[in-house]
Amino acid sequence: MTNNDKRNLLLTFLFLGVGGGVVWAIVRNRKKTNIGTTYPGGSSPTPGGSGPVPSGPSPVIIPPIPSSGLTQAIPGSYLSPSGIACQSGDPAGCRTSPFGWRPSTNSYHYGMDIRASSPGHDIVMKAPGTIYSVATGGGWGKRIGVRMSDGTNLLFAHLKNQYAVPGQNVYPGDIIGTSGNTGGVPWHLHYEVCGNLPCDDSAVNGGPSNYSTFKVDPTPYLHYFGLVQ
Ligand SMILES: [Zn+2]
Repeated sequence: MTNNDKRNLLLTFLFLGVGGGVVWAIVRNRKKTNIGTTYPGGSSPTPGGSGPVPSGPSPVIIPPIPSSGLTQAIPGSYLSPSGIACQSGDPAGCRTSPFGWRPSTNSYHYGMDIRASSPGHDIVMKAPGTIYSVATGGGWGKRIGVRMSDGTNLLFAHLKNQYAVPGQNVYPGDIIGTSGNTGGVPWHLHYEVCGNLPCDDSAVNGGPSNYSTFKVDPTPYLHYFGLVQ
C-alpha cells in the first residue's frame, strides 16, 4: 500500500464516520418531534400503543338531554283527558264535573274534575314546565302546581303521591305525582288552569274571592298532561 492509498483509506473512514453521525442525528431528532405532537381529531397516541391515531372527521358533540330525575312513563301508556262527560264504565280521563257554577253545592267550581279511581293514576307531563308549588291543604288536599314553558299555570289536586319538588324543571314523560282522594273527597283528579298566576298563592291572588279573575275553564288545556291508564 502506497502512502496515497493509505490517505485515501483514512479519508473513506472519516467520510463514513461523519455521514453515519449525521444520519443518527436526523433519526434521533425525528423521534423527539413526536413528543407533544397534536393529532387530527384531538386524540393523542395511546401510551404504549402502536402510534398516532389516524386522522378523521371531528367528533360530533351531542348536547345532553335535559332530565328532571323523575321517573319517565312508558310511551303510549298515558292519554290526555278527553274533557267529555263520563258515561258509566268509561276509563280514567273523562270529565266527572265541569268548570263553573254548581247548583248542588251553591258554589263555583274553579276547575275540572277528571275520573281517576283507586289506587290512583300516574300524572305525566306532556310539555316542559317548572314546579311552582308542592303543598297540602286549602281544600285541595295534596297538590302540585306547574308553570308551563308558555307561561300557563296549572294545578293538580287531591293527589295521593307528590314526586316533584318546588323549583324543579319537568319534561315530557315525567311522572310528577299520582291522583288520589286527599282533602276529604272521593277518588278523582281536580285540574285548574290559571293564566299567568299561580293557582294557589293567596298572597298574590287575593284568595278565593278573587279566583274568578284568573281561573279559566280547563277544557282547552287538557293537552299539557296525561294519565297512565
Ligand atoms: Zn274539583
